[in-house]
This record gives sequence, structure tokens and C-alpha cells, in this order.
Amino acid sequence: MSKTGVYVHIPFCARKCTYCDFCTLEVDDFAIERYHYALKREIELYRPSGRIDTLYFGGGSPSIYPSSLLRDLIEKLKESLPLDLKEATIESNPWELTVDRLRSWQKLGFNRLSIGVQSTDRDIMRVCNRPFPDDLVERLTRAVEIFDNVNFDFILGLPGENRINVENSLKLIETLKPEHISYYMFDSDHETGLMTAVKNAIIELPDSGLIDELYNTIVKSLKRLGYERYEVSSWSNGRPSLHNLKYWENSDYIGLGLSAGGHLGFTRYVNSEDFDLYCAAVNEGKKPLGYVRENSMVQELFETLFMGLRLTRGLDLSKEVYPAELLEVVLDKIVSRNYKYVEREGSALRLNARGFEMSRSFFEELIDIKEEIESAVSS
Ligand code: SF4
Repeated sequence: MSKTGVYVHIPFCARKCTYCDFCTLEVDDFAIERYHYALKREIELYRPSGRIDTLYFGGGSPSIYPSSLLRDLIEKLKESLPLDLKEATIESNPWELTVDRLRSWQKLGFNRLSIGVQSTDRDIMRVCNRPFPDDLVERLTRAVEIFDNVNFDFILGLPGENRINVENSLKLIETLKPEHISYYMFDSDHETGLMTAVKNAIIELPDSGLIDELYNTIVKSLKRLGYERYEVSSWSNGRPSLHNLKYWENSDYIGLGLSAGGHLGFTRYVNSEDFDLYCAAVNEGKKPLGYVRENSMVQELFETLFMGLRLTRGLDLSKEVYPAELLEVVLDKIVSRNYKYVEREGSALRLNARGFEMSRSFFEELIDIKEEIESAVSS
């Protein structure tokens, strides 16, 4: 039986980054106290049948959550859930990385650190309302010295992006050699402060041709530096994110906290984003669900395809629960409509290099195929 992951959302942030559309809250001692109490109640609502082997504290900014409260949450998780952890990750912003915090996270049992570097350029970070510590490199150096499994997150395509700052980010990677890199493309589809400024012509996004060129440079450079791309936006030098693999393999994971999502069996849920509703529900002993759906066989299959085809190795559906006839129809349709982009061997499917490049349009096509199959099944 495959093991389950646990995600814990800590929504508090010292300030709001202009590109961010995550569910975040301003730091406030009283709100933190209420939230902490509610989170502990929510943990009690889950009784998974299998063991928990990955834990991920994300946000928001878990790095500003007081250490004593982090310890209390870890104790609560140990007491209530069958933990058998291989990987326990905590996210941090660069300016919140202090030696004391790094050591205390390590003592609490976190063995992986994910740092939202985003860019090595001060001006880009200023436009994003993110502090840029003068000693950024020293802070990151201490992090990779103290933790032996570190991820750096970057975003490509923020306002002001150019060849020089991408080269600087690549030099930083080459020097510090973190075990994992996530390089995301800036997503202009989200409604954020930054996109409002772009729409009002206050800020300009970089030219898309330049971003494509820089993206190719990043892909080639990370390969040269010994990183293997194992997912659309993820590279590792032998230490892939075990927790994130649960998402891409569409395995079971429990999401705890405001706006956190989970997937257990065929059930998909997302917690409420409303702080008062979230606290009120858990305090009444109810799961604070904002959305819950029992997936049909077709929905579950397509979720598995959407997530699994993000992996370079793709996915093998032979051991899954889907009826052979449904699988055949779906795989046939995908291959016949996307023969240039996919490779199929029996019930194993993966995107080829071209498919990876064109993944956005491939996934749009996959949505159409899903709708066709759903309407054929229901008629
Ligand atoms: S620190 Fe992270 S979660 Fe908080 S506002 Fe910035 S990007 Fe969003």
C-alpha cells in the first residue's frame, strides 16, 4: 500500500508579494493563536489507514511561524497520525533564513528546506514587494551548509527579467549546488497586484520571445550542471521531492489548514479559504471543507493523466484500477490526437521532448478529450 503525504498550510506572511495569489494572511498574534488551535483540532479529524511518509509545511510563510508553535504542531502530528517520515520539508523566504531558525527546524526533524529565492535581482524583487537581503548569498550558503537537501524556487518572466539576471541565478546554482531546483514560468493568468499594474500600463512584462530564449538557456544550463529534469518545472541532482511526487503520481495526501487541498482515494477536497469559517468548522469538530468531490472513474483517470504527464517519465496505468475498456478508449484518443507529442507503450504514456515544449497546448487538448469522454459516458 502506498503511503500518504501530509501538507500543512501556514498562511501568514509579513507582507504580500505582488505576484502572489496564494491564500495568505497578515501576521497577527491573535490570529496566529486562533489558527494554531484550529489546526490542532483539524489534525484530530484525520485517521488515515496507511502510514505517513512525507510532510510539507508550506504557505504563506512557515518560516515566520514561531518555533515553539512549530514544535507543538509536530508533536500533535506525531501523537495523532502514524508518521514514518522519509521527508519533512519546510518552506522559507530568504530574508527569514537565520542560523537560529535553520538549526531549530533541523532539531524539529525537518530534513528538507525549500527556499523561495525567485530572483537574484534586487530590482525585480522590489517590484514584487519582496525584501532583498544584502547578504542573500551568505544566507543561502548557510542554508545549504546546514541542510543536506535544499530546493531553490525561481520564477522566470517577472518584470525586468533579462539575460544578466538569469545568468546570475544560474551562477548562484552552480556555486551553491542545491539538491533541487524549481524554475516556474511567471503565470500572467492570475489576478494579482502585479497583473493589475501590468493591465494599467504601470509595469511591463518582458518580451515573450526573450523569455522563451532564456527558458531554453535555463534548461540547457541545468542539464550541464548535472540536474535532471524530472517534472515540467522541477530539476534534481538525485533528490526529487518525495512529497511533490505524491501530487504528480496522484497518490493520497492530506491537506491541513486554510485553503489546503487533499486527495484520499477518489475523494478530492479543498479547505475553506475563509479564516472564520475554517476556524468555526474545526472547532465544531467538522472538516473545514470549501469544496469536496467524489471523483468518478473518468475524473480520477484524467486527474492521474494531468498530473502524471507532468513527469518526464510519464505514467504507467497498468497497475491502476481503471477498467481496461475505458483506458483503451482514452489512451487511443490521446495518442491519435497528439501523436507528435506523446509516446505510448501498452498502458504507459509519456510526453516526448516536443510534447514537453508544447505542454501548455497539450494539456488544453487533454481538457477537450476529458469533456468528450465524460459526455460519451453520461449519454
Ligand atoms: S511570501 Fe510567499 S506566500 Fe507570502 S505573499 Fe510572498 S509569495 Fe505569497
